[in-house]
Amino acid sequence: MISVELPDGSSLEVEENSTVEDVAYKIGTGLGDDTVAGKINGELVAKKDEVSDGDQIEIVTEDSDEYTKVLRHSTAHVFAQALKRIYGDQAKLTIGPWTDEGFYYDVEGLDLTEEDLEEIEEEMENIIQEDLDIRREKITRDDAEDFFDENRYKREILSEEASGGDYVTFYKQGEFKDLCKGPHVESTGEIGGFKLLEIAGAYWRGDEENEMLTRVYGTAFPSEEELEDFVEKRREAEKRDHRRIGQDMDLFSIPDFSPGGVHFHRQGMKVRRELEEYIRQKNEELGYEEVWTPELNKAELWKKTGHYEAFKEDGEMFAWRQNDEEYGLKPMNCANHSHIFNSDKRSYRDLPIKLSEFGTVNRNEQSGELSGLLRVRTLTQDDGHAYIRKNQIENEIKKHLQTIIEMYEEFGFDTHFILETKPPKAQGPDKLWEEAEESLKNALDEKVGEYQVNEEEGAFYGPKIGVEVEDAIGREWQLGTVQLDFVIPRNYGLKYVGEDNEEHYPVMIHRAILGSIERFMGVMIEHFAGEFPTWLAPEQVRILPVTDENHEYAQDLKQELDSFRVEIEDRSWTVGKKIQAAHDDNVPYMLIIGDDEEESSNISIRDRQERETKCGFDEFKQELEKEIKQKRLNTEIIQ
Ligand SMILES: [Zn+2]
Ligand SMILES: [Zn+2]
Repeated sequence: MISVELPDGSSLEVEENSTVEDVAYKIGTGLGDDTVAGKINGELVAKKDEVSDGDQIEIVTEDSDEYTKVLRHSTAHVFAQALKRIYGDQAKLTIGPWTDEGFYYDVEGLDLTEEDLEEIEEEMENIIQEDLDIRREKITRDDAEDFFDENRYKREILSEEASGGDYVTFYKQGEFKDLCKGPHVESTGEIGGFKLLEIAGAYWRGDEENEMLTRVYGTAFPSEEELEDFVEKRREAEKRDHRRIGQDMDLFSIPDFSPGGVHFHRQGMKVRRELEEYIRQKNEELGYEEVWTPELNKAELWKKTGHYEAFKEDGEMFAWRQNDEEYGLKPMNCANHSHIFNSDKRSYRDLPIKLSEFGTVNRNEQSGELSGLLRVRTLTQDDGHAYIRKNQIENEIKKHLQTIIEMYEEFGFDTHFILETKPPKAQGPDKLWEEAEESLKNALDEKVGEYQVNEEEGAFYGPKIGVEVEDAIGREWQLGTVQLDFVIPRNYGLKYVGEDNEEHYPVMIHRAILGSIERFMGVMIEHFAGEFPTWLAPEQVRILPVTDENHEYAQDLKQELDSFRVEIEDRSWTVGKKIQAAHDDNVPYMLIIGDDEEESSNISIRDRQERETKCGFDEFKQELEKEIKQKRLNTEIIQ
């Protein structure tokens, strides 16, 4: 007999060579009958997989969270089966794992179009209707190699992931079978709703040196309703896609020649400047002084702080040799700011010293990871470093939290805070860690109330508070951070003279409120679906002259509004078409100027919510000023 551990912490004696399913039957017949798959030591496995002495076992049934993963991977097999039915040997199958949102399948030899996907979906529907049993089979390694005679990808999997042992497992449904360790659902009929979503390219094993394969993304759910719900949410997200809105509103572009390098166009730069000014003001309120430091430095700078090794190891830093010297582009601003701290003698009376910078950093993100503004290679952080005494931690953290809460509220985001505490490999004095964590908790208790604690997940150099925001359609984004650091001051030799006339290490706070301007803009564009609050809108007012005759008057009004971002629609279009164009560009307010308006000196206003009114020009101007000053989230001048 061997003993396995169950989720409630109890242990269960089972026969040697028992499977996950046997364990389930031993717990109860009902559970045994319902078993779809299992988890051995946290890893999702087939129900026929054998357990070993001391394993932690969880049973996966239709009610488990993992069931959807199993179902989605089974749908990937149905996809592969449909490809084989339609394209035969032309389709060289590779892998088809589940993902957070569904599944994908990589295949060689097919150049698929949207119409092809429809045909494949029809065949998949047939396979689901046929309600084929999905059976696990053991096959000798030799037979498996023969079976994949024509498919070198599968042979590679056989000799790598599936190496060792005389037998390998296949899953068979109808005429189709494939190498797979599972788990799978019992029959193709269990798939309630599925959809193929997108065609993309992907390198075999994610390596740019390898062949480019065709990747098809799809998803599946136990029921049709769940699928419809997903499709609706996805449609909403697509409507808000910041890459499309960025192009439509002429905000930014990321051309092929600068992968991960954002070009802010004239309209995008207006939004960016507003954000920067906003942050500048908040930094000033927090007592920061703005500095600027260079991107290009000798690599020795980061050797001093200890970042060099870490960044070099993941290939995340751009570094090269030139003129017998190793140079790099800064991947963060901490080292340069620490130089500024160290450029003078500091006494306890000088602290806190707070330096802020719109610091442009470069990180060599994998090309496959790059995604619009959300993941780039050149980014500008609204960075800040505070050098403080340890008895100033609590007060400083409170101030920062207060600012973060207020700021995100002004954008209409809900915020969640996460405290990450001392990890096993922590550096720095234990007592400092304890006191610091205590201070962070006190600050969070007072300013936030409820927050999440991720025990032992802090960085080795200090505990951290992460800020997660929830956007208008309920998606969560990790943006700002407040991170304590006990290690850089020691590595870099940062010192101040204390009241006792001795030298001490300051505690360092790294903080970014928005995170990176690029990523924040990406999240914000989707959050507002391009309908920026008036204070941020690249074009706040558009004047629409009814005829060319009204042009001069339009110019006069523009002059009157020169403290706002105003443009005149000068294309010779009908008023209807002009209004439509302004709506498409998400302009908050339109002023429609015809002969009547010119004579009466009243104006016709229309807002982006399609409300209309007439009022005096001065009144509009005052209201506009108020709306911008109050940073209102939506257009409110016309009630
Ligand atoms: Zn499989
Ligand atoms: Zn830093």
